[in-house]
Amino acid sequence: MTTAPPFSKVLVANRGEIAVRVIRACRELGVRTVAVYSEADRHSPHVLLADEAVCLGPAEPEASYLNIGRLVDAACGAGAEAVHPGYGFLAENPEFARACEEAGLVFVGPPSHVIAALGDKDRARRLAERLGIPTVPGHPAADDDTLERAARALGFPVVLKAAAGGGGRGMRVVTGPERFRETLASARREVKAAFGDDAVLLEKYLDRPRHVEVQIVADRYGTVVHLGERDCSVQRRHQKIVEESPSPAVDPHLRRRLGEAALRLAREAGYVNAGTVEFLLDREGRFYFLEANTRLQVEHPVTELVAGVDLVHLQLQVAAGRRLSLRQEDVVWRGHAVEARVYAEDPERGFAPSPGRILLLREPHLPGVRVDSGVQEGQEVPVHYDPILSKVVAWAPDRPTAVARLAHALQEYVLLGPRTNLGFLLDLVTHPAFLAGEVSTQFVEDQLAAWQAPDPPPEAVALAAALLAQEPRGPAPVASARAPDPWERLAGARLP
Ligand code: ADP
Repeated sequence: MTTAPPFSKVLVANRGEIAVRVIRACRELGVRTVAVYSEADRHSPHVLLADEAVCLGPAEPEASYLNIGRLVDAACGAGAEAVHPGYGFLAENPEFARACEEAGLVFVGPPSHVIAALGDKDRARRLAERLGIPTVPGHPAADDDTLERAARALGFPVVLKAAAGGGGRGMRVVTGPERFRETLASARREVKAAFGDDAVLLEKYLDRPRHVEVQIVADRYGTVVHLGERDCSVQRRHQKIVEESPSPAVDPHLRRRLGEAALRLAREAGYVNAGTVEFLLDREGRFYFLEANTRLQVEHPVTELVAGVDLVHLQLQVAAGRRLSLRQEDVVWRGHAVEARVYAEDPERGFAPSPGRILLLREPHLPGVRVDSGVQEGQEVPVHYDPILSKVVAWAPDRPTAVARLAHALQEYVLLGPRTNLGFLLDLVTHPAFLAGEVSTQFVEDQLAAWQAPDPPPEAVALAAALLAQEPRGPAPVASARAPDPWERLAGARLP
């Protein structure tokens, strides 16, 4: 690959850790960056880090990060050549990709028609079936009667999903025929509100599968490579929390078969740029195509660490029309990587988001540990967006050492202010089933449903006292009608 920057200037249409990650990658390649922000994010790290920043408008996502017109105007106004969408928000919205294409901006992702084809779960399933890739038994989107007949024929439990959807919106598991209609109606309502279309499809709900997904990268000239799998079985309510690569459940033979299936699908869809093909793996070791994600995943760092690539660099290179210099036979995997997602949320209150000001932040700096962070001390974590704060990723030559490094990093991580899931993550990655690599997508519900925070250790009490002593007299920095309460502020801290 040439060393000239792939673009002169890129607008990053996102916020938080992924915006920071993409801005840094651009900088490494000599590409100037334009950040965008809502009024709630004026003092966020991604805004401070970029070469330029454009305010999109008020905090509400529709007025800012989901506003296609304002984003395209910002990119054109700043003279950007390309737009990187990150993940979430508009990253998989074919209309956004099309709007960029029509404005003469390069969308760092696949062409809009590929996003549309793969983003529709029914169309993607049909494509997989046509290619002989196994899919979970199910039924495409249909009317209520047809879906009910299909559910009875498949046998319960079944899962209902938004055909157009993602992010778990509208997903419902139905265990028996009694509540099928009622659950379908509520799924349709949620799906309609989220995606403007109430199409719902049906699948057999597999018992305790693993979630295994394959990272692919493709250029415009028909070269597609896969970078191995990630295991994302550790989930809460079907949302990933901890991810690793390689999967403890995948041997070289299965890796080859999963990789071939992913490549076939990508080639047939005319895929360009980075993407992920997701599968479920049942307890007998059979795999089933689940869906394709046409963007960078939250969990992409674990692949980067074991495959020795920078996926954002590759995305920018192929978006600029360069050839992939990587060949399948060049891809080698080294060691093991594991990632945990750190959220401003309260595990003891049903993982409700916990916004507020970050009073103290000490992210871990340890050998073999990478922290992709989107926050800084003093910053307000807004209520309007996904409460992800950062990702802690550990690498080591072997899985036990990587997991031990991750646990150590979580212990060293200090955040006071919002509550966080740090203590929960630490108990999760030190749980015997996780250490043994024997988890399913039900692991959290099966083993950690009743999780409670341990009492704060004495060091945490001392730290909270010191913090309170430093604080100027006046209103509490945490937005609260109550009097300042040291325990309240402390609750996010999990000290060694
Ligand atoms: P979304 O696009 O909303 O994220 P997915 O189809 O990717 O939804 O599924 C998310 C998660 O839901 C999977 O990782 C898995 O844990 C669970 N899941 C989805 N479909 C099934 C199924 N047929 N059987 C069992 N679990 C499933």
